[in-house]
Amino acid sequence: MPPTDPSEIRRLDRLRALGLLDTEGEALLDHFTELAARATGLPIALISLIDERRQWFKSAIGLPQGMETLREFAFCDHASQCADLFEVEDARQDPRFADNPLVTGEPYIAHYAGAPLVMPGGEFIGTLCVIGPQPGRLPPQGRDLLSTLARGVVSVLLLRESERNLAARARAESALADSEARYRALAEQLACANRRKDEFRAMLAHERRNPLAPISTAVQLLRIAAEDPQRVRRTAELIGRQVAHMTQLVDDLLDVSRVTRGQVRIDHEPVALDEVVRDALEQARPQVEARQHTLQVAPAPQPPLVVRGDRGRLVQVLVNLLNNAAKYTPEGGHLTLSVRAEGQDAVLAVKDDGIGIDAQLLPHVFELFTQARRTPDRSQGGLGLGLALVRSLVALHGGTVTAESAGPGQGSCFTVRLPALAAPDGPAAADAPAARG
Ligand code: ADP
Repeated sequence: MPPTDPSEIRRLDRLRALGLLDTEGEALLDHFTELAARATGLPIALISLIDERRQWFKSAIGLPQGMETLREFAFCDHASQCADLFEVEDARQDPRFADNPLVTGEPYIAHYAGAPLVMPGGEFIGTLCVIGPQPGRLPPQGRDLLSTLARGVVSVLLLRESERNLAARARAESALADSEARYRALAEQLACANRRKDEFRAMLAHERRNPLAPISTAVQLLRIAAEDPQRVRRTAELIGRQVAHMTQLVDDLLDVSRVTRGQVRIDHEPVALDEVVRDALEQARPQVEARQHTLQVAPAPQPPLVVRGDRGRLVQVLVNLLNNAAKYTPEGGHLTLSVRAEGQDAVLAVKDDGIGIDAQLLPHVFELFTQARRTPDRSQGGLGLGLALVRSLVALHGGTVTAESAGPGQGSCFTVRLPALAAPDGPAAADAPAARG
């Protein structure tokens, strides 16, 4: 039954807080038992701790350290009632102890003297005691010495307690500092996300209005020049371009919203990367040519690398990277596209010698709505959705995408890494033989 007496509960709490029960012996405390045994000339000396059901020896001379006996047989428990020292001169003749198994059997206690270990709050936690097999009585200086040594033991325990408290406090403080730092980082992230959302809203409003102006001008032009077929054709082309731009924006927005809500499902078919490259080049070429870039496509590995995934989505990834390279490279720039095998991976890289990416922006380019500050040389920018989509789509394929740039004006390189189904020398090669061309 757990104790109900409040002072016993406090006593046990204090004892447990010391963290001494059921631990190894300690040299510092052993000095006290050694001194007690030597000074009294008795063969047994103990630091005995009393919990709710037993006495347990933290330090012991003449008996094993760590030994325990039931509390009801503990002489030491009686010391709790004494201010100074509890002494039994002949236990065999004492009606309280005569039939105690520690008297009738090992260690055959006859003479017992125990000085209580009392903490400053009055909690009795055990004794420093000495025991002999013959009846006897400690001389006054022996009694004094035992009491003084007991106070010494208490001082050591208090020191330990404050060390433990300090360590616990240091631990609590460092945990607090950790969680504070985490909260601060989180708050910063939230503030940053909020800022980006606001910027995005402003940009969205701008982007939606942007194509409308040329479209409405074009409509007016059509009214005036309805008879001029060449003008009509040019105007229709202009409207077509602006509508395509808006459609692209809306598609990207819908896509991002679906991806962030985890609603995008992709195929898991074997896809040959040379086909992905061919489709992506076809889609990105108009943008590349419009900006008069040179696009070099490095020779692809033969047989072609195969990955498991969604051909359309992989094309979308590559087109995004190629369009960005074209967008963020001043006219007449140089772009390179390469596909290679690296270990178990298929690696696609799109490189440009364009405006590059600032070191501060670089770690965030794949986050939603992230964009470099708009300057005239990047007036081509969209809404900061493309790379977030790229990262999510690549992740759905079990891959990664990374960006590198030595800084503004130094060009950029985007690398997509996907698990290859059929790397030329990979063990997975047997996985998809049918998918190879
Ligand atoms: P958007 O192009 O619509 O702004 P993205 O998500 O595609 O959005 O790109 C995010 C930002 O990353 C761009 O605004 C741009 O600052 C930077 N970026 C992307 N690709 C390149 C590149 N090839 N060179 C330089 N900067 C780039």
